[in-house]
Amino acid sequence: MDHPLWKELSARMGELRDLSQVSGLLTWDQETFMPQGGGGHRAAQLATVQAISHERWVDPRLGELMAWAQGEASLSETQQAMVRNLVREQRRAVRVPGRLIRELAERQALAVEAWRHAKEAGDFHAFAPHLEALLRLRREQADALGHEGERYDPLLDMYEPGMTTARLRPLFAELKQALIPMVQAITEATPPARWRVEDFRYPVERQWHFTLHLLEAMGFDSTRGRQDRSAHPFTCGMGSGDVRLTTRLDETNPWVAIFGTIHEAGHGLYEQNLPAAHARDPIGVAASMGLHESQSRLWENCVGRSLAFWEGQDAVLRRHFPEALEGVGPEQVHAAACRVERSPIRVDADELTYNLHILLRFELEIALLEGDLQVADLPGAWRERMERDLGVLPRGDREGVLQDIHWAWAEFGYFPTYTLGNLYAATLFERLQEELGEGMERALRGGDLLPIRDWLVEHVHSKGHRFDAEEIVRGATGQGLEAAPLLRYLREKYGALYGVRL
Ligand code: ZN
Repeated sequence: MDHPLWKELSARMGELRDLSQVSGLLTWDQETFMPQGGGGHRAAQLATVQAISHERWVDPRLGELMAWAQGEASLSETQQAMVRNLVREQRRAVRVPGRLIRELAERQALAVEAWRHAKEAGDFHAFAPHLEALLRLRREQADALGHEGERYDPLLDMYEPGMTTARLRPLFAELKQALIPMVQAITEATPPARWRVEDFRYPVERQWHFTLHLLEAMGFDSTRGRQDRSAHPFTCGMGSGDVRLTTRLDETNPWVAIFGTIHEAGHGLYEQNLPAAHARDPIGVAASMGLHESQSRLWENCVGRSLAFWEGQDAVLRRHFPEALEGVGPEQVHAAACRVERSPIRVDADELTYNLHILLRFELEIALLEGDLQVADLPGAWRERMERDLGVLPRGDREGVLQDIHWAWAEFGYFPTYTLGNLYAATLFERLQEELGEGMERALRGGDLLPIRDWLVEHVHSKGHRFDAEEIVRGATGQGLEAAPLLRYLREKYGALYGVRL
């Protein structure tokens, strides 16, 4: 029999979750079906829901209940884990003054608007004062949240609970040092014969149909989720029984939809298989953004960009696009899916160069936050590092420093989660291959993706946020956050594909 105070605390945890999912649903609708005229109403609705949520987080009664729970010896381990997550989230809400939250929200809205115009015009100067203001507010917020180490830590912690800058620096440096010569060797090598994807047109209805087939094959439950179209694919979970994902269809490039769907379904499977018993408490969520991204990247890259996968999908793919695939085998499809190219644009980047884009942003945003780099000098610093690390120069700021929306959203600390996702994905995939052995390749070649889904459900999804991301990965694989598994994976895969020793 639970203590009456625990029941009261549980009810409050449930309401906080509901409010956050309502915000998610409003945002999903805004990106998919809302008519253009709804923008003003939606902004007001979202602001109201968020204000109610904030009031609940700072309610002194919640503080009292949490103080009781923290001192209560009779709580189970599970309940203690809930309280630990709750305390972290509540600290984030109460330590930052309401004035700062409001100012941030207003500034973000203005900055996103300014960023759109600045990007369009390729004019960084129009965006610079907004970036300046957002950095000042985030510095203030980081100091209000408090940090023992670097100022970047509390911002990073918002997306990746428990992670620190000091932990990331050496890891990212190791990665960068290894990746630069690998990219060099691959771009100098002769590429394998590949499917000339760009020579054909791909009717969007057939693409849509093929993505639905992929969802089913991956074990995405369509009675507890759905796919729609949006300009920028994303996934939004309103509980494990209602997971929405989106994809984008491009008649000239089928990869956009195929890998968009596989990626988002990786996120979607995580959301669908979170522990149902904890649907309304702080354990029933993903452990971090990095771990979330590891699920999408594992499916997209480790599985979706493997030869065995395309062997298993060959017949269905051929049925959908018979003209484009005439005389083309799975090896060529695989080679086309794994093409390496130096590009200034992060979202177009391949597996090999992708992390270099992230490391550049990581270094620059820390320098900006610490005041070691002035906003006015940012475009120059960007170009210099781009050329040095990626060997490519953007044509103007539109292709350079203005390409991503993240900084306009004031999301400093978010970019590293993409690379954390790649690192965790490779670590998990290595272990998964060891455990499933030959059976995995065999299943993939037969078009059966369920053994992979089941392994991930058991070792990652069903854990929810009972532990932090690295502990979950360690529990599943015996190793924590390391660069070695990703480097091994890339060396082996791209070395074989391009016929070079990496
Ligand atoms: Zn993702």
